[in-house]
Amino acid sequence: MLLPARELPFEVPSYSLTGDILAFQTCGLQYRYYSGSSLPPSRPVQIWTGEFVHGALEDAYRLWRERQFPFPWPSNPTPFPAPNPLPQRAENDIGVIGDRVEARLAASGKRPRNRDAREAVYRRVTSAINELGPHLFPLITAAEERISGTRAMPEIEGRVARGDRYELTGIVDVISSVQLGRETTNPLVRMLQGHLPNRAGVFDIIVDYKASRRPGSADSFWVNQQWQVQTYAWLREQSATANPIGAGVIVYVDELAPSATELTAFKKELEAGTADVAPPVGSADWYAIQRWRSGAELPELTFDFRVNRAVRIISVSRVDVDAAVHAIDGVVERIEASAVREFNTGDILANWSACGGETTCVACDFRTFCPEPHAHRGNPHGPRPASAPG
Ligand code: SF4
Repeated sequence: MLLPARELPFEVPSYSLTGDILAFQTCGLQYRYYSGSSLPPSRPVQIWTGEFVHGALEDAYRLWRERQFPFPWPSNPTPFPAPNPLPQRAENDIGVIGDRVEARLAASGKRPRNRDAREAVYRRVTSAINELGPHLFPLITAAEERISGTRAMPEIEGRVARGDRYELTGIVDVISSVQLGRETTNPLVRMLQGHLPNRAGVFDIIVDYKASRRPGSADSFWVNQQWQVQTYAWLREQSATANPIGAGVIVYVDELAPSATELTAFKKELEAGTADVAPPVGSADWYAIQRWRSGAELPELTFDFRVNRAVRIISVSRVDVDAAVHAIDGVVERIEASAVREFNTGDILANWSACGGETTCVACDFRTFCPEPHAHRGNPHGPRPASAPG
């Protein structure tokens, strides 16, 4: 007797803009394996770094709002390994804030890769709190705000996938409220006014922190992150209480204290013409970067240059937001189509695209059996995995 195939369960699928959409865009196959198992990545270094940055900036903002400690705040991270007893430090010491965030992350098994990685993150968070904080914190009206909305489910290969709608969710790091169209000394507001010269009045600004460097304009992260923030704007617009949204802002925290690896990547982008923010030729920053060589002490770069690299302003015009949410619909369509094809064939590897970039593949748990890791692409004679799980 033939048993009928079981249908896909009916539900309203929920997609997180970071956990699903950005993850699938980063690599479809890696997303499938992580989302299809309850196992955490075996190398949760990037997760620790991102969550530490978000947690420390949020805790610092809440402390500033309650106690208004003047900037700059001291920064004395607890040595690694930690002494017993811990040194006495002020309540607003960034090391004390970091201890709390590290304890929360350690409770879920997340730890930094090594001492150097931990020190680098503290340098960046210290710079973000002491250099950006005085300008950003006073503008903040909400932090860690959950937003969601539903959209029509795209049609998948002639059939509706699972239900006729899907839910899109996200967490906006910060909503800021800014008054445009009048004199200000706040460098962040001035940057926004430069991008929105004809706007006046109070606007909401959607701010997203990234624990990474600013990508080059040829990098897929460039447009994917733009769509993410523009889709936050669309979701936020669904809220009846919101002010008009003036812009999105991505803060690339690493740009405030770049590492040697990041400076090397930046120099390559300068040569290739894919760095959208470059120091003016002949400026102190330009000379400092041109003269710097890998292995030498990192150059001192001006606050103006670093903040211009760190702060990326994203248009949220009607046209751009509509284009972004349609692009996100397209990503959902590809995820659903991959799931349907896997359901019909029982084959994972053939139905989820292995498209990770170089840095993603290097740290990927599945590279030993991945059919197309970055290092093998375009190299028909390169080694191939001997076998792969279905
Ligand atoms: S090795 Fe690269 S392409 Fe393959 S699954 Fe991992 S991230 Fe994706």
